[in-house]
Order: sequence, then structure tokens, then C-alpha cells
Amino acid sequence: MKLVVNIASPPHSGSTLLSTILGSHSKIFNVGELAKAFRENRFFICVYCRNNCSIWSKIKREKFSIDNIYDLLFDVTNKDILVDSSKDFTWFLKKHSQKYEVKIKFIFLIRQPEEFVASLKKQKTIFYKGKRISYSPEKAIVRWTEIVQRLLYFYSQYKEVSYLVKYENLAQFPEKTTEDICNFIGIEFEPKMLQFWNLEHHYLYGNPSLKRSREIFFDKNRYKRILTPLEIKLVRENIKIQTFKKIFGYE
Ligand SMILES: [Zn+2]
Repeated sequence: MKLVVNIASPPHSGSTLLSTILGSHSKIFNVGELAKAFRENRFFICVYCRNNCSIWSKIKREKFSIDNIYDLLFDVTNKDILVDSSKDFTWFLKKHSQKYEVKIKFIFLIRQPEEFVASLKKQKTIFYKGKRISYSPEKAIVRWTEIVQRLLYFYSQYKEVSYLVKYENLAQFPEKTTEDICNFIGIEFEPKMLQFWNLEHHYLYGNPSLKRSREIFFDKNRYKRILTPLEIKLVRENIKIQTFKKIFGYE
């Protein structure tokens, strides 16, 4: 039986790290953000090999579409499990209502909201109600709570095939967290997964800086260097954020 593991998360939550670790397992191919490739002019460009990719050139020679892409990827990569970190739940639901003969599992990846707000501040813009607007801490907070609320709803709907991961646990305790995730997927943990930089990867989109990293590091003070004390206060005093933090076990 073939399996697709979907990573659902707000943006800037470390899904590239998680999917790259998983994609380093001998049975898994990490696809990357497939929905984005279909959405954005069908640019199926491998982050590592650009246009000379052994996997994606083969896919592009076939008549591929949303309907057969998973089947083609299983064939071309010869793996049993695909990790799709499209993040977008509408995409997953559309895909899985189709005629795929695959099992699905969901990993919900959550990172503390201060980091999300800090990332949007660095990026200077927010994708809000269908358009790009300039950053403000209030809008960034609303954006995070909206996404998380939606994810929690889907999590409750798919609970029996879902697993919740905190980015902070993955980055701080990668071995234990990855072992637990492997357990959930139903595969044996492989130590080489934690040295993903030694292996080949062919994924679409994702955080480009991970390509160069040769370690898994946890920087718990990053947001404190980006956000002002007032911005941090705004995040922490938001009632919805306080509720979500309690649900995920933050602080
Ligand atoms: Zn490639």
C-alpha cells in the first residue's frame, strides 16, 4: 500500500526542515510544496538541481496533471511514501477526494506565534484576504490565529490519521521527535535522517536557506531580535493566541 503524508502548517513553521528530514528516509520521497507548483504557473523546478533534475525532468516528460501526479511520483521515485508539504488543506482535500488508491496521513506542524509574526515582519508583507498588504503586528496576529483555527478544525476531523508536531521539539530534540513521527508513519527510524545534508533531495519550493545548512539548530531567541517588546506584548496578550498556546502546550 502506498502512503502520502501531508504536512499541514502555517507558513514559516519549519515545514522544509521537517519534510527534508522525512525525505532522507530510504522509503520516502519528499515532493515539497506541490500545490504551489500547480498554482504558480506550473513551475516544477527542483530546489537543488533547478532544470536538470533527474526526477522532475522525467515527470515533465510525462503528461502529468493534478490527477496523476502522485502515481507518477511513486513510479519515477520507486518509493512507498510521498511527503507533500503543500500546507494548504483545500489542496489535500481536493487531491484525496480523487481516485487515488493511497492511504493518507497528516502531520500538523505548529511553531510559536512570535516566530510567525517575526517572519512576516522580516518579509514586510502579509498575504491577507487574497492580497498582499504591508506588515503590521495586528494583521500578522489575525493571520496566524485564522490559519491555526482552520488547521485545528481539520485536525479534529482527521484525528485518527493525524499527528501534531511542535517545531520547537523537532529543532531541539530532533532524534526523539523524528523517532515519534516515524512511529506514527509506521516506518523504522533511520539515523541518517538527521544528517539530511549528506543525501540527495529533489523537492519543489520550501525554505531555500535549508539547502546550505549542515546542522539542525534551535535558536530560541530569534524573534526577540526581530520584534520590539511592544510587538511581543501584543502577541502574548491576544486572547486567541493564549488559548491556542494552551492547546499546544506552550508555556
Ligand atoms: Zn533535483
